[in-house]
Amino acid sequence: MIDQEKLFDAALIIKNSNHIVVFSGAGISTESGIDDFRSPGGLWERYDPSVYASYQYFLEDPSLFWKMHKEVEDLVGMADPNQAHIAIAQLEKMGKVKAVITQNIDMLHQKAGSGKYGANIYQLHGEYGKLHCVKCNKEFNFDEINTKDVDYPKCECSGYIKPKVVLFGESLPHGVLEGAMNECTNADCLIVVGSSLLVSPANFMPSIAKQYGAKLIFINRENTIMDDLADVFLKGSAGEIFTQLLKIINS
Ligand code: NAD
Repeated sequence: MIDQEKLFDAALIIKNSNHIVVFSGAGISTESGIDDFRSPGGLWERYDPSVYASYQYFLEDPSLFWKMHKEVEDLVGMADPNQAHIAIAQLEKMGKVKAVITQNIDMLHQKAGSGKYGANIYQLHGEYGKLHCVKCNKEFNFDEINTKDVDYPKCECSGYIKPKVVLFGESLPHGVLEGAMNECTNADCLIVVGSSLLVSPANFMPSIAKQYGAKLIFINRENTIMDDLADVFLKGSAGEIFTQLLKIINS
């Protein structure tokens, strides 16, 4: 049961804000069928992210990553945006949301329409659709390489090919973190949704926004390590909470 008083408090903050930045994590996409890292069950119990999503392990033996990839590709490929992604795109259309900073690589914000009305999108951990060689940096599309009948694809220079997603231990794409941090300094409201806030440096965003005067709304199924920063913490499922928030805002 979502706390109705807190829901109205959050709706009021959104109504009074004109430069909202959304910061999303894997939890926003669980209602689209893509498992997050922390919730029990699902993909990540079979593929420990500290091994299968580690850059160091990838360089030692890329076949581990590519084994996991085959299942992730199916999950991400079949997923559609849910009510939370759609509501964020609607808030952009209403002139409220000016930027979306996401830790997700699933492109569901863009599929929902985020960015269509001018909001900047920052994919801190890259995206699944593109690949590159980790040795010579040549870029590829998925249809240019064979991932089906091999343990892992290799570049003609003999380097390993990997989707342009950021693995644990790997640097973030150049300029993306700086751009996202800058967005947080301009926000009058930061909505943090579906993130445990355990992954650095992505988890710097809430404290930067707070330091520069933004109101903070957290939407999460469970508590996070930064709850004390939140002006309003809404506990529950993102899809349902965003649906109710939009109803109040539009009423
Ligand atoms: P996380 O897995 O650490 O935390 C997700 C949080 O969302 C948890 O606290 C959980 O309680 C909450 N949650 C789950 N479902 C929810 C829902 N429907 N509504 C509200 N809250 C919900 O995720 P993170 O903080 O993003 O960090 C993990 C890393 O995982 C990120 O770096 C990200 O790149 C990567 N990742 C991405 C995807 C994706 O692209 N969809 C999926 C899995 C992991």
